[in-house]
Amino acid sequence: MSDYFNVADIFGENVFNDKVMQDKLPNKIYKQLHKTIDEGKELDPMVAEVVAEAMKEWAIEKGATHYTHWFQPLTGVTAEKHDSFITAPRPDGSILMDFSGKELIKGEPDASSFPSGGLRATFEARGYTAWDCTSPAFVRKDASGCVLCIPTAFCSYTGEALDQKTPLLRSMEAINTQSLRLIRLFGNTSSRKVTPSVGAEQEYFLVDAEKFRQRKDLIYTGRTLFGAMPPKGQELDDHYFGTIRQRIASFMKDVNEDLWKMGVTSKTQHNEVAPAQHELAPIYAKVNVAVDHNHLVMQTLKRVASRHGLKCLLHEKPFAGVNGSGKHNNWSLTTDDGINLLDPGKTPHENMQFLLVLSCILKAVDLHADLLRESAADPGNDHRLGANEAPPAIVSVFLGEQLQDVVNQLIDTGNATWSKKGGVIHTGVSTLPDLFKDATDRNRTSPFAFTGNKFEFRMVGSRDSIASPNIVLNTIVAEAFCEACDVLEKAEDQEIALHDLIKEYLTEHQRIIFNGNGYSEEWVKEAQRRGLPNIASMVEAIPALTTEKSIALFGKFGVFTESELRSRAEIKYENYAKAINIEARTMIDMATKQFIPAAIHYTGTLAETISAVKAVGVNAPVQEKILRQCSELLEKTSDALDALKAVEEQASCIEGAKAQAEYYRRSVVPAMESLRRPVDALEMIVDKSMWPMPSYGDLLFEV
Ligand code: ADP
Ligand code: MG
Repeated sequence: MSDYFNVADIFGENVFNDKVMQDKLPNKIYKQLHKTIDEGKELDPMVAEVVAEAMKEWAIEKGATHYTHWFQPLTGVTAEKHDSFITAPRPDGSILMDFSGKELIKGEPDASSFPSGGLRATFEARGYTAWDCTSPAFVRKDASGCVLCIPTAFCSYTGEALDQKTPLLRSMEAINTQSLRLIRLFGNTSSRKVTPSVGAEQEYFLVDAEKFRQRKDLIYTGRTLFGAMPPKGQELDDHYFGTIRQRIASFMKDVNEDLWKMGVTSKTQHNEVAPAQHELAPIYAKVNVAVDHNHLVMQTLKRVASRHGLKCLLHEKPFAGVNGSGKHNNWSLTTDDGINLLDPGKTPHENMQFLLVLSCILKAVDLHADLLRESAADPGNDHRLGANEAPPAIVSVFLGEQLQDVVNQLIDTGNATWSKKGGVIHTGVSTLPDLFKDATDRNRTSPFAFTGNKFEFRMVGSRDSIASPNIVLNTIVAEAFCEACDVLEKAEDQEIALHDLIKEYLTEHQRIIFNGNGYSEEWVKEAQRRGLPNIASMVEAIPALTTEKSIALFGKFGVFTESELRSRAEIKYENYAKAINIEARTMIDMATKQFIPAAIHYTGTLAETISAVKAVGVNAPVQEKILRQCSELLEKTSDALDALKAVEEQASCIEGAKAQAEYYRRSVVPAMESLRRPVDALEMIVDKSMWPMPSYGDLLFEV
């Protein structure tokens, strides 16, 4: 491909999209498939047969040799098993390329090696993948050649979800049903489907691959477990939106090209706050497609980075003391005929449907703040949420000036009669155009912010799937819609009932609204006064999954059964314990084999130097001072290492995933921090040429 190309020419060229289906499928089959895609009608095996044949022909033309059911088990990443299209050789030794309808719609990967959180103990190991025809198949090109990837859901022999996709699709059905009920109340009889739209902004770091390979912590855990701060951090704000360096620009170009070909609408790219940190955002899509695409984005970032001699770090906190990475999950509800239920219009105070939707969302977020918090919990995110970084662990909603004013009117009087207007910004320069400004400013410190016609959930971790937060959002909002419709559908005077309901919800749940600085100490106190949960860590967040409230919620809408919820909690505890265990062992390894020997080497050299200097009758006070400091730190390191080893050994004696996770959080994490401190101090005084790995400065500023 030449250096310059027309995006329109390549966009979606590797996707079995609607246009391809129209071209390749008989009209009748195309229509029948659409009934499944659009209306959820069961898929006729005969239709699957024809689609499979067309898909195979198309994929082979693109160069595909294999196909795979691409699924999202509870490992946090995607999984795939490749099968080639070849059949057994014919008598003359030649082969055919084959792909049946059955192979398209159902796969059977062995489920026993994927996390099941106890579901497996009671059921067979068999697992099935089922074609999600609402997310288009695509051909992916990489070192292994070309593979036809078929997005699928993954479940156990008894139909229990073993993945993220299944509950996501269930939650989409729930929000669709309840949203349709709601819009019918307002006289909409034409929309036939309501789907959550999601745009996920992805943050990431890029470091030089050669330097990456010299750090075991990055290799094994995705983050640095040691590292002193460089002389320069992000204090100058010169990286954010700064000019993109050529090496990075060339990487971004390739990322975009790969993504566009796979139909991912990569749209925005820029440097982020921290040095070596960047962001990529696609245009929003239906939530299940957005989830798939976000996985593709993450995989593409990593793959292309390798081609450029770079490594992409998706960890939430690759460098202590430097801004971490997250994923902003922009969420709205869109009808099949293009109406956004979260669009307030120019005069929100008159838009009763919007006000009901808004008050339902506030109610949902207030009632289930714990579930939202949990949905963003992963071991890496513990270093952001509730730690030394934004966003805070307390869930609150930012509405902004205009909506807050309308909400105040509604709470005070039950009626809203005006909406604040945006106005014009005068730049004071006659050649610049006057800018029309939004009615509301942004608030970057809020975990759940209204941004014009969507909510932006900012807690999600950069490495995590966006499935969980969207499952929660869809379901909690479905519940609030359902409860509102239960009241309104029965009301004698709907208009009065509607006013009362909006006022009631807003009054009862206004505590969840916070428009101030979410990073401030005062907010922590204020939130506590309001009784809002402040859940500091993943281990403390997980219990939210299995409360009575949560079991009732997910059960009512058929999103999770109780045993699915319990299994998920179990898996999360296990994941946490495993992640910390790997980190602790990596620290022990690095301290034992790299840092302590480096310090011994340096102190030895110093001692020799001191003797040599003194031998010629000269004092060596500086050398002696550094030797003393170094020896002290070496001793502290050794003690902290022994302490970490001791707590780490005990962990294996603890029974039960929950107890183990709690132990890691309570005992192992602090022991890790204690080991890090003296090592980082050593790094500041040991001769750089003797330090066994690249520093933060080398990693962050020499990409
Ligand atoms: P920022 O939040 O950085 O200002 P934008 O507002 O342009 O950026 O968009 C951020 C993300 O939100 C993008 O992925 C965009 O496609 C997505 N987005 C925009 N409108 C909607 C919507 N109605 N529903 C869901 N996502 C949306
Ligand atoms: Mg944003």
